Amino acid sequence: GGASLTLALSMTACSGSRGGGDGAGDSNEGAKIGVAMPTQQSERWIADGENVKSQLEDLGYEVDLQYANDDIPTQVSQIENMINGGAKALVIASIDGTTLTSVLDTAESQDIPVIAYDRLINESDTVDYYTTFDNYEVGVQQGTSLLTGLGVLDAEGKETGEKGPFNVELFAGSPDDNNATFFWNGAMDTLKPYLDSGTLKVPSGQTDFQQAAILRWLPDTAQDRMEDLLTVGGGQQIDGVLSPYDGLSIGIISALRSGGYSGDTLPVITGQDAEVGSVQSIMSDEQYSTIFKDVRELGKRAVLMVDDLMTGEDPETNDTETYDNGVKVVPSYLLESQIVTKDNYEEVLVDSGYYEASDLD
Ligand code: BGC
Repeated sequence: GGASLTLALSMTACSGSRGGGDGAGDSNEGAKIGVAMPTQQSERWIADGENVKSQLEDLGYEVDLQYANDDIPTQVSQIENMINGGAKALVIASIDGTTLTSVLDTAESQDIPVIAYDRLINESDTVDYYTTFDNYEVGVQQGTSLLTGLGVLDAEGKETGEKGPFNVELFAGSPDDNNATFFWNGAMDTLKPYLDSGTLKVPSGQTDFQQAAILRWLPDTAQDRMEDLLTVGGGQQIDGVLSPYDGLSIGIISALRSGGYSGDTLPVITGQDAEVGSVQSIMSDEQYSTIFKDVRELGKRAVLMVDDLMTGEDPETNDTETYDNGVKVVPSYLLESQIVTKDNYEEVLVDSGYYEASDLD
């Protein structure tokens, strides 16, 4: 139909514009692209950086890839250096979405286009495009898998009639990461009816985003908070934990183990990113679920955007309403994520070639 025709046409347009040695792409051959990533503490960002770099290099670009060790001033100065070094476009996964305004003003004054990668950059009109996953839906999937793990929903997402009550504790991501609120809202909208009806109870009473948030997504902070929650909650048995990221889940599981949980008594724990250690934890029935975001696809999308901008095409978007950064609504391309549990990890992660079976040994 129309959609596949459009796709076919835009693919033709793209391949025609690439710097393959002949045609219009030539002027961009060797153009420098700055790629700013937040941290190497998590596998996903390492994969993101490598993907984007190699795909840009395949198109003939030169890439300055930098990791900022989750330190805001480091990221700002890395971006300054990219600009000073002659970058023709910037791809940025920010640490704190609101701290880049002034360095991006410099980019704007030099007509350097900026693509926000995975995380929205806030309070700047310099952000031209955004590519990410449907972050609200990621949260819905986290909330849904918590309910499935507890047996409140079945595999098709239908209510089983199971009413618990189940004790759950709730975690959110870093408050300076725009995604964290989207994940939280998606999850909480999904859990709310069950909290209201009493199927789910939160022993600690900590149900606000600010109470649940873990600055910089640090596993150790999540571990400390989980240890506290076991006390604050009066030592009641915990049946489920909403965790928005695999790294936090690892900290949460450590705290629960120290608190006497093990094997079958570990609660249902969610996650995100399908990081190797956490997939292994799912395989051994510790963590219940994770959310798989295929960063190969995200990388492809960012690279397409860069290449379109460099060759004077309009990048394709599929959402022009959701991501208001306080100054403008940033045209976005959203990708889909997938719930992964012990039941489907092989199909989703191994059969798709994302991991080799031996990666998970
Ligand atoms: C990303 C998640 C990731 C988290 C922690 C978020 O911005 O979207 O995939 O789990 O950061 O790195």
